[in-house]
Amino acid sequence: MKETRSTCPYCGVGCGVIIQSEGDRITGVRGDPAHPANFGRLCTKGSTLHLTAAPEVTRQVRLLHPMRRERRGAAPQRVSWDAALDFAAESFHQIVFEHGPDAVGFYISGQLLTEDYYVFNKLAKGLLATNNIDTNSRLCMSSAVAGYKMTLGADAPPTCYDDVDHADCIFIVGSNAAYAHPVLFRRVEEAKARRPQAKIIVCDPRRTDTAELADLYLPILPGTDVMLFHGLLHIMLWEGWTRPDYIAAHTSGFDALKALVRECTPELVAQTCGLAREDLFTAARWFATSPATLSLYCQGLNQSTSGTAKNAALINLHLATAQIGRPGAGPFSLTGQPNAMGGREVGGLANLLSAHRDLADPAHRAEIAAFWGVPSVPELPGKTAVEMFQAAADGEIKALWIACTNPAQSMPDQKTVRRALERAELVVVQEAFATTATCDYADLLLPASTWGEKEGTVTNSERRISRVRAAVTAPGEARHDWAIAVDFARRLEGRRNGPSLFPYETPEAIWLEHRESTRGRDLDITGLDYTGLEQAPQQWPFPQSASTGRARLYEDGVFPTPDGRARFAAVGYRPPAEPRESRYPFALLTGRLRDQWHGMSRTGTLGRLFGHVPEPAVQMHPQDLERLRLAEGDLVHVTSKRGSLVLPVQASSEIGLSQAFIAMHWGAEFLTGLSSTGEPLAGVNAITTSAYCPTSKQPELKHAAVKILKA
Ligand code: SF4
Repeated sequence: MKETRSTCPYCGVGCGVIIQSEGDRITGVRGDPAHPANFGRLCTKGSTLHLTAAPEVTRQVRLLHPMRRERRGAAPQRVSWDAALDFAAESFHQIVFEHGPDAVGFYISGQLLTEDYYVFNKLAKGLLATNNIDTNSRLCMSSAVAGYKMTLGADAPPTCYDDVDHADCIFIVGSNAAYAHPVLFRRVEEAKARRPQAKIIVCDPRRTDTAELADLYLPILPGTDVMLFHGLLHIMLWEGWTRPDYIAAHTSGFDALKALVRECTPELVAQTCGLAREDLFTAARWFATSPATLSLYCQGLNQSTSGTAKNAALINLHLATAQIGRPGAGPFSLTGQPNAMGGREVGGLANLLSAHRDLADPAHRAEIAAFWGVPSVPELPGKTAVEMFQAAADGEIKALWIACTNPAQSMPDQKTVRRALERAELVVVQEAFATTATCDYADLLLPASTWGEKEGTVTNSERRISRVRAAVTAPGEARHDWAIAVDFARRLEGRRNGPSLFPYETPEAIWLEHRESTRGRDLDITGLDYTGLEQAPQQWPFPQSASTGRARLYEDGVFPTPDGRARFAAVGYRPPAEPRESRYPFALLTGRLRDQWHGMSRTGTLGRLFGHVPEPAVQMHPQDLERLRLAEGDLVHVTSKRGSLVLPVQASSEIGLSQAFIAMHWGAEFLTGLSSTGEPLAGVNAITTSAYCPTSKQPELKHAAVKILKA
């Protein structure tokens, strides 16, 4: 038996795993006791990974050969890799020749490795000269990115997992960490057990398993977080709980924020947020006066039309109370996907460039053009996720390359997404799993390797880079994501003079180029190499002169802004894009289940992972069921302006009045319905809104107005 150290491919905790294998069969998995993210622990999903890689499962669900569909609706036929990539390159070349580079788009994934991401980003922005490359991280972390940059000056969580052990107050907001980040949550539970005097505040519209740990639970009305944060600052100012010395020495813009929050009285905030006035005072006191306060937050803040404002308003509280840059203190955004952070590091979003450079900055564009050896990087911002599919639905984008993600299930307003996939002249889907809804729309299917088969790196929530390693070879003709992108790029380069921009033969060669692009930047990793990372995963920055990564940022009170000061953000409160109203009187909330991951392409292959929640349901408050004369198990139509789904109803004491909850994972096999114009729909995001945050462009997957009627 062979043992291979690698990383779990699910959530942003980034747990280390040891894969056991015999020949080309993965036989077991256990937590890596030496990995600082989990010290040997795994959750239900991580500890069953080996079962999802069993040959019996692989045979049923994996894409094993390149396939091409001669025409839409026809069954895909097996083709050779050369035929598939020649066809892709010729089609892209023709579309770019006829319509320009912005007629193509790449939609990739926070589950790709950093090396995969790097090649795709260079392929789009460097070779094809389009910034139309975005990722499902847009649906996950873009508000956190924008919030950090707006206030602290860089996309860098300033904290680390160890801070959980040092915090005297932990403020968990917009995160059901017990389900979404289970191993980290276990650490919070242990910290609380060791130091019962430490305060836990949980703020969430639903009384989730996470809330069970709370000393103070704040059942906030959906979407009102900015008002809450401003209200807490109002109280802190009134009570003298802020830190004027820190504000004067290390920040700017406080006067404008102070003027803004003057109106956010405890009475107004209590009414807007549906919270008790005395709870606001308790929360403000614990947050401000505890020796060290750590905030943990996730999609409840990010997936919102106020996503950036919510992130920034929470960071305001940390700056105003000097709860940052010390052990146990700081705003800690939890990454949803395993490598949303690594993707940002290489600039894998429509508005970013390598090593945290900004596309909007001409100097940054020039630096990257010189680094890549291309004449220029285009100035025109690329289309972000929602914009990209809208542009394809409108006929503006004619070729879509989709890698390692399933937009036909995961994007909001799927009617538009499906129209985009149908209208595009060419849809290439690069995937490990043949079972995703998006595969049905592909003209070309390219089989990719996946966990246990591929090599590279990922970065977790605490900026820690870990090695991902192969224990077995990929099945069938599946190839690594970076290698597919390189082969395609070299074909496109055919007529170009000079050496290839894509000379890589190994993922390490790509990583070394990425590493060099970080030299002198906030995430400088020039002191790291693959060998060192295999021995010990490290946090960035880790420049050449360093002997260890940096656990915490901004300990000296100097921030990566032009004047070195953090910036308070005077951002106003706005309600959700689609408030409840008489025709749609329920607020539909979405979220994770404990034992499933995203669209279930991997977790859905294991019966045992359905033991916790076996089928979809819409959860409602028992009083709402009674008022609508519904009984537990009755089938209901859950209808938004975009369409309707049919599913059983379930009474839940977790949920507030006039709210409903549906888990995000269920796809076409489990949860179907009809659009407002009669087309088939599947999954909860078929009826969520594609309205997005104007700054981060992250859609409001967490809130839609719906009506619920007996089927
Ligand atoms: Fe994997 Fe996240 Fe579970 Fe760790 S907590 S084992 S990274 S799913």
